[in-house]
Amino acid sequence: MPIRCEIVSQDRIVFEDDVDMVILPGAMGEMGILPGHAPLLSSLKMGVIRVKRGDQEEVFTATGGFVEVQPDIVTVMADAAENIDEIDEERAQKAMERAEKLLEEYSGADTENYLQIQAALRRSNLRLKAVSQFRKRGQRSRPPGMGRSE
Ligand code: ATP
Repeated sequence: MPIRCEIVSQDRIVFEDDVDMVILPGAMGEMGILPGHAPLLSSLKMGVIRVKRGDQEEVFTATGGFVEVQPDIVTVMADAAENIDEIDEERAQKAMERAEKLLEEYSGADTENYLQIQAALRRSNLRLKAVSQFRKRGQRSRPPGMGRSE
């Protein structure tokens, strides 16, 4: 008996299917959810979600959110989530460089802004790390030669 898994971000349904297991970055540590799991509600840390179907595994990045577990369904509500194959490395690299530059230039005046830049740096690091760790060799977010020219 499988368990339904839905990963929803603020703007779209990122993943929806019957699966065998979902591994999530729960607030209290990594959580492995199998079919028939007891109901629970937890916040999620920024990190990687792994979804197992047979001998296949799909990997997603999520920048925090919540998970609701029922015995027959896992619903992830993420701030932002992407399949690692959808991640645009160039965009994440640019986001990282932008955040690093802003942190260097930071004058100490605006704490809220500082925290936002730090969060942007963490998001871009997560995406780049997840791609290098989990994307299968040879796969790219876009075919060679199809990138933007900028
Ligand atoms: P950027 O500065 O490049 O916009 P960000 O960290 O500020 O990055 P988020 O606010 O986390 O972006 O996400 C906004 C939307 O863009 C979400 O739908 C997210 O899935 C998507 N997104 C962000 N970065 C990437 C990326 N590198 N590749 C693919 N999708 C991305």
